Amino acid sequence: MSVKDFIDATNGGYEKVHRSFEEQFWGTKMALSDGTPLADGKGPTAYSVDELTRTKMEMEAFLADSAKLEKTREFLSKADELTEDQIKTLKIFERTFGCYIMESATAREKREESMKLEGGLESKRNTMKLGAQLKDGFQEMSSVGLRNKMRTSPDEEERKACYEGLRAIGPFVCSNGFVEVVKARNAMAKALGYVDYYDYKVTQAEGFNKQRLFEILDTLEQGTRDVMVKAREQLAASKGASALEPWNTGYLMAGDLTKRMDPYFPFEKSVEMWGRSFGNLKISYKEATMDLDLLDRKNKYSNGFCHWPQPAWKKPDGTWQPATTHFTSLADPSAVGSGHTALTTLMHEAGHAAHFANIQQSSPLFAQERAPTSVAYAELQSMFLDSLVGDAAWRGRYARDRNGEPIPWELHAEDIESTHPYKVFALRAMLSVPYFEKALYELPEAELTAEKIAELADEIEVKIQGGFSPRPLLSVPHLLSDEASCYYHGYVLAEMAVHQTREHFLKTQGYIVDNPNVGPSLEKAYWEPGNSAAFLDLVKGLTGAPLTGDAWIHELSVTVDDLKVSERKDYDAAVAKPHPAKDEGASRVDLNMRVRFVDGDNVIADTASTGGDFVKACSIFESYVAQRFPRATA
Ligand SMILES: [Zn+2]
Repeated sequence: MSVKDFIDATNGGYEKVHRSFEEQFWGTKMALSDGTPLADGKGPTAYSVDELTRTKMEMEAFLADSAKLEKTREFLSKADELTEDQIKTLKIFERTFGCYIMESATAREKREESMKLEGGLESKRNTMKLGAQLKDGFQEMSSVGLRNKMRTSPDEEERKACYEGLRAIGPFVCSNGFVEVVKARNAMAKALGYVDYYDYKVTQAEGFNKQRLFEILDTLEQGTRDVMVKAREQLAASKGASALEPWNTGYLMAGDLTKRMDPYFPFEKSVEMWGRSFGNLKISYKEATMDLDLLDRKNKYSNGFCHWPQPAWKKPDGTWQPATTHFTSLADPSAVGSGHTALTTLMHEAGHAAHFANIQQSSPLFAQERAPTSVAYAELQSMFLDSLVGDAAWRGRYARDRNGEPIPWELHAEDIESTHPYKVFALRAMLSVPYFEKALYELPEAELTAEKIAELADEIEVKIQGGFSPRPLLSVPHLLSDEASCYYHGYVLAEMAVHQTREHFLKTQGYIVDNPNVGPSLEKAYWEPGNSAAFLDLVKGLTGAPLTGDAWIHELSVTVDDLKVSERKDYDAAVAKPHPAKDEGASRVDLNMRVRFVDGDNVIADTASTGGDFVKACSIFESYVAQRFPRATA
């Protein structure tokens, strides 16, 4: 077999197994009816957890085929006969296969066992009767519904009931297979020679081990511990000691403000504002096709995500294979604050989609999101883009009520006053997940029981967050699934890089929002290489400095008064401009992709039916939401 034939067969074979798995992933997570096609009109005849497990194992068997690794190395040993592009492609083959090949039979066995247990656990979790015991009886709510109500209900009893609803997830998952999943994952990792499952995951995802990771995280943990303690003291002093109760913190910090800001984040307008904002940054999706399933519904997976049934890549004949992307959020348009949450999720997941649609390499293996693609690298892109929603420069432009009026300065200033001193809480909440999973996978097997896990979660919450967390650790869905477990540190590293990237653009260009250089700069420096370059190198390449937490710590230490001065300047400049829909050329938003708004099996709007007009598709989506949730637009 020639090297060209080998590369072509591997690329084509991978695309096929990747696609089959992703079809099942989307179908089962969205609870689609059998036969519902994906964004590009193709799909399997049936969706099931069994098929999900089977296609996942098929994909992994493809990647774990040691004959392919041997062949790759054989070709690489004769590098002088290869083109530069072939060497690059063979090297990503070698790295990717290396992440999947398990040379131990025990590890393979344990892996299969944990996948089966996990499938069972997930389907039980999806049908768990979740909700809160309210005055007039038990009310069923998703975890998102519970969190929304806890943040916005003026009734403390009700907030507490929602918190208890969230706390109920832990005992449920622990008595429905999670304990056994943890054991099987650890046994697999240990059979491969890793310290434990966390060590295995981080080494594969980031290229450095657990010890190195926690050296980095420890500096951030220690560097912000006092800030957290002070912020809790300040919160208790200004709102009373009960503000520290997990069901009160979020409500008392922003409960009323969330409500008053709500009119400036109308849910039904969020897709248009996202599209306009990305369009003005000159972000292009390179002919991708995308499904957006934004509304919460029963039995839908309880976390937003973005996946790619079709990775983008440059084919051997020079033609371009655009991405097929699916992403989901969990909006309940009738809940106060849902518009803001939906918008942030939209900017985030659409940021992932923009990143992966722009990877321009000679194999789909450069554009798949699992190992060896760095989690931190992927999250940096989405978190950088969702960070804009908090900026005065963005809000003055895009946070507009149903009459088109921008959010008043006073509201934004109040938001700064009430959230800036407590930003450290979010940092600590993020940190608590990796610290919990580290401790969880370090538990000796004999101590792994449902009770012990619950105890450990409480202990870590108190240690890292200073008290019980408004989002109980065991309600974090990432813990359960193989892809997302021992993964959360990626968000922390990514956020360090977000602050450093923002600082870079602000220093070199003066502004980020609506800056037409930002999209192309991200594409060139961060997106185009895909996983061919290391995360830390990419950050250094764009920002000109090694990654540190300095930019983040600096931002936390700016005083409220200083922050208000700089934000006021940005706000005034933003509102001096016309409404984004009245900008020159604003009747057309060109993201260079086909978009479908879907709700499970149902297609709400499709740019293919609006002559490629994104704004028109948005207005169809808008009417649909208005009709289905009349209260939201009343
Ligand atoms: Zn993300």
